[in-house]
Amino acid sequence: MASFCLTTVAVIFPREKAKAIGEAFIKLLGSERVRPLKESKAGLLFKIRDDALNQAKHFSFDRFDFKLIAQTKLARGVIQVPKNADIDKLKNDLKNKSNVEAVHSGLKNNVITVTFKTENAPTNILGHNVKPALLATLRCFKCQMFGHASNVCNNNAKCPHCAGNHSHASCTTRHARKCANCGGGHSAAYKGCPIYLKYQSTINSKNLKVTNQYINNLQAINKRPYLAQIAKQLVGKSETEILSILKNKFPENEAQYNIEHTTPTPPEQPAST
Ligand SMILES: [Zn+2]
Ligand SMILES: [Zn+2]
Ligand SMILES: [Zn+2]
Repeated sequence: MASFCLTTVAVIFPREKAKAIGEAFIKLLGSERVRPLKESKAGLLFKIRDDALNQAKHFSFDRFDFKLIAQTKLARGVIQVPKNADIDKLKNDLKNKSNVEAVHSGLKNNVITVTFKTENAPTNILGHNVKPALLATLRCFKCQMFGHASNVCNNNAKCPHCAGNHSHASCTTRHARKCANCGGGHSAAYKGCPIYLKYQSTINSKNLKVTNQYINNLQAINKRPYLAQIAKQLVGKSETEILSILKNKFPENEAQYNIEHTTPTPPEQPAST
């Protein structure tokens, strides 16, 4: 199953009809082959099974024809800003790159966060190394739930001390502790809370995944120039010379070479010009 955005060919998405459109779309494909995700700025998001894709591409509702756009998860990377750098110029240059979706204005610890249009972040942009943006654990100070900040919170206030429907500042319960997330006898900030531990382990595995991806990208990129460089050294060399160069470069393969080349051919003298 992959994620897709259902959007109108016309510029205006008939927002007031979103619910009816979504229902008609699910009815067309069958509820076992499509799962609604959410409504986005661009249209309606669905997870669609591969065998329903062809049918999903030809959907119309009322007078509207729809198109289906694959939704890739966008990678985020961080750039360490060099000292004395012109930050505004750097941000502008980044924004103008074709693989950049957004440059985030917050400048914490001299790093700029960039969202790329691709699923994996590049390892370098405009001569700056790009490191993966790791997720931090986030607990909302308003509703105490994990994964969002209080400035975007639409939930009612919950007290981190007693889980009551009031803010921490207006709490009058001075002894009884109750966790707003799990109901246990601790504050919502307690690092041993089972809900927190579960959330933390999800964050850790996501961060591990992007870090591994980053290491793989780096290795793939480093390999290319390295091999090209060796290849250049081999041009015009005899077999014995080639073997001795390769032995130096790849000492771990030595045993193999010794077995395969027990009787090396005498070196050819390069033709004098
Ligand atoms: Zn909240
Ligand atoms: Zn309270
Ligand atoms: Zn708890």
